[in-house]
Amino acid sequence: MALLKTLPKAHARPGRPAPELIFGELWEYDPAPESADPKLKPRYELFINGEFVAPKSGKYFDSINPANEQKLAEIALAGAADVDAACQAAQRAFDQVWSRLPGRERAKYLFRIARLLQDRAREFAVAETMDGGKPIRESRDFDVPMAAAHFFYHAGWADKLDYVAPGRRVAPLGVVAQVIPWNFPLLMLAWKIAPALAMGNCVVLKPAETTSITALKLAEIFQDAGLPPGVVNFVAGAGETGAALVNHPIPAKVAFTGSTVVGKLIMRSLAGSDKKMTMELGGKAANIVFDDAPIDQAVEGIINGIFFNQGHVCCAGSRLLVHEPVAATVLAKLKNRIKVLRVGDPLDKNTDIGAINSKEQLGKITELVASGVKEGAEMFQPACKLPAKGWYFRPTVFSKVTMSHRIAREEIFGPVLSVLTFRTVDEAVEKANNTAYGLSAGVWTDKGSRILKMSTELKAGVVWANTYNKFDPTSPFGGYKESGFGREGGRQGLLDYCRLI
Ligand code: NAP
Ligand code: MG
Repeated sequence: MALLKTLPKAHARPGRPAPELIFGELWEYDPAPESADPKLKPRYELFINGEFVAPKSGKYFDSINPANEQKLAEIALAGAADVDAACQAAQRAFDQVWSRLPGRERAKYLFRIARLLQDRAREFAVAETMDGGKPIRESRDFDVPMAAAHFFYHAGWADKLDYVAPGRRVAPLGVVAQVIPWNFPLLMLAWKIAPALAMGNCVVLKPAETTSITALKLAEIFQDAGLPPGVVNFVAGAGETGAALVNHPIPAKVAFTGSTVVGKLIMRSLAGSDKKMTMELGGKAANIVFDDAPIDQAVEGIINGIFFNQGHVCCAGSRLLVHEPVAATVLAKLKNRIKVLRVGDPLDKNTDIGAINSKEQLGKITELVASGVKEGAEMFQPACKLPAKGWYFRPTVFSKVTMSHRIAREEIFGPVLSVLTFRTVDEAVEKANNTAYGLSAGVWTDKGSRILKMSTELKAGVVWANTYNKFDPTSPFGGYKESGFGREGGRQGLLDYCRLI
């Protein structure tokens, strides 16, 4: 059995239990915190017209470390007047500088930004983890390198825009308003800013209230890269700042990533305007495991799909659909596996599940999990110890879930998996598609023909086969149905940042 372990002799130390056979239990490791200096400032101002400026209202809000509830820094709160100043600066930069530069010149800035971010990768990873709560392993190995990769990839496009829409010419839209969520602060920012700049647009972006720090740190890189003033502007704040930005008359396009509720609000307020929109919204993905799948790999894929990163992932495989003949085996293996997930200090390199991003989000997860128990699903949680301070949630698996349970229908956005079963391929497709969302799905099977059939019939923007949560800047990402419209990444993503002429 994979989980039957003998503790190595070297592990025996005074004060520790003697080496012995343990079954499905966590090995004790010494803490291994990442020690790079995140170089945080006590206060972050707004970034408008290439400079850090105080907000006109004089108001600031705190950014909190969700791992220990301590204040990290204070962030300037942008009001309508600041949003206006940022939009005016972006329009000037667009008219006078950025739209007039040849693509090969714009590319140089994007390459520079990518390189400078790589140079400071460890520092950015620590800042991202402290501000958002995700494990350092995720921010170090995924978020920051992938953000740099998006700048590199789009730098490569900037002088090849004639190939974005073969047979047509493309032109930038102008100023783009971008609003992003807290789950991938730096990566969502890179997904949005890199294609916009490559295409010749200028940007005003609002980061999420709880995770503004890495955006404002990236502004330092923009300054170091010599990016012309006004090409990118950051206005931090909460929902009102976002509303002021998307409703401002200057932006020609609104690119939004966040919840379906707020996405619909924005669409309603922009209906009748001629602003272009792209919406990257919520998800309730099905990870579908057939009886011929490599079960151990599938279990690892399920774990990766929902538990790493605390389930704070729009495309998280939050519903597991498992073929009846292997359902009991998969469930047993899953339970064993989550017993050895490490929940705790996000800065520790051994941590699998870090802190929940905010107290509000922890409240939402707790409420939905309680509804699962109340509606009759069977809950399993390992008995892991949670840190006394900070916001944490145990990895949770629900079995005996039916399609009518709230935990099978609503986005939980936490480390919670709902397990359902199916008997036939058609039933799997029907259950997977029986959701208001359509962002992503996973299929685990030995048969190529079944992968092709499933990926044709699943109404999801991304279908992963025998893997999960894999990303690449060349590959477009986006949703069906209430998961939104428009694509980010690849050639298709660029099409959403231009006019065809
Ligand atoms: P959210 O509450 O919708 O917030 C997203 C952003 O919109 C935040 O910056 C938020 O500001 C701002 N906002 C709130 N009200 C607004 C308004 N009336 N007008 C304009 N902007 C407004 O979402 P979240 O809780 O931060 O993020 C989680 C959601 O994002 C999940 O549903 C997840 O599935 C989705 N998501 C989707 C994708 C994708 O690619 N499809 C990727 C990542 C996340 P505040 O921060 O102050 O609330
Ligand atoms: Mg924070």
